[in-house]
Formats: sequence, C-alpha cells, structure tokens
Amino acid sequence: MTLRLRPHHLLCVLTYLGKGYTPAFVANYERIVARLNDGETIEIVEGPDDICAPMLKEQDHHCHNDSVKLRDRQALDAVITELGLGRDVRIIRLVSEDVAQLRQAFSNGALRAACQACEWSELCSGIARKNFRGCRFQPPLS
Ligand code: SF4
Repeated sequence: MTLRLRPHHLLCVLTYLGKGYTPAFVANYERIVARLNDGETIEIVEGPDDICAPMLKEQDHHCHNDSVKLRDRQALDAVITELGLGRDVRIIRLVSEDVAQLRQAFSNGALRAACQACEWSELCSGIARKNFRGCRFQPPLS
C-alpha cells in the first residue's frame, strides 16, 4: 500500500503531536502516521490527500484553496532540495535519517517558506524549538 500525501503535509507530519481539527481528522491522521512509521511508501499528489479526506465533508475546509496549492508548491521545492530528489519524483519512502534531516531543516527555517501564511506556524515553531518532543512520526531506521 502507498499513502497519498500532498507536499505540504510532508512538513506537517514532522510536527504532528496527535491534535487536529476534528476527532475524525485526528483518528485518520493517527492511522496514517502509524503506516508511515511502518515504512509505507508515499505517493506525492496534487490536491486533497489521505490526510485531507475527513475534512472534505466539512463546509469550511480549505483543501482546494489557491493558498494551499501555493503552500504545496513551496513545500515540494523545499523537500526536493533538502533531500536531493529529482524534480519529477512522485514516490518516496522516508526513513529516520530523512526525517531527522527534514526536522533539522524545519528548525533552521530552510523548509518553512510553505508555513508562512499558516495559522499553525507559531505552534509548529514551538514544537521544533522543543526538538519535536512527543511527535508521532518516528519512521523506521531503514
Ligand atoms: S506551520 Fe502549517 S504548513 Fe507548516 S508544518 Fe505546521 S501545520 Fe504544516
């Protein structure tokens, strides 16, 4: 099985602590992070993904907003640059070394262009300052 994730969620999973918009959103997120922690591959997709899915029933979701599509493009550029991936990469698998590298880049700001207009930016910065303590995404070593 392969998880479908839009690019900016490659950043959000780094700081996920088990909280979110609705109980259904959190329950779904927990299942996704458990699969990532089992080493499942990720298909990078455009638009709403497996994390968005429970929100699509909500009236005020932002999953199709242009601002979120811009966030995806910024996140994809940053992750590709950080991990040295090809521009057309669409299937990836993240192991602990990759996630440590991404978290370091998140902390030093190299990944954060996508976060600028996000309402959770201060929260995520605080999580990074605490060295991502308690974050759920802990992928396998290899
Ligand atoms: S600031 Fe927003 S876009 Fe950036 S990681 Fe946090 S929740 Fe995701």
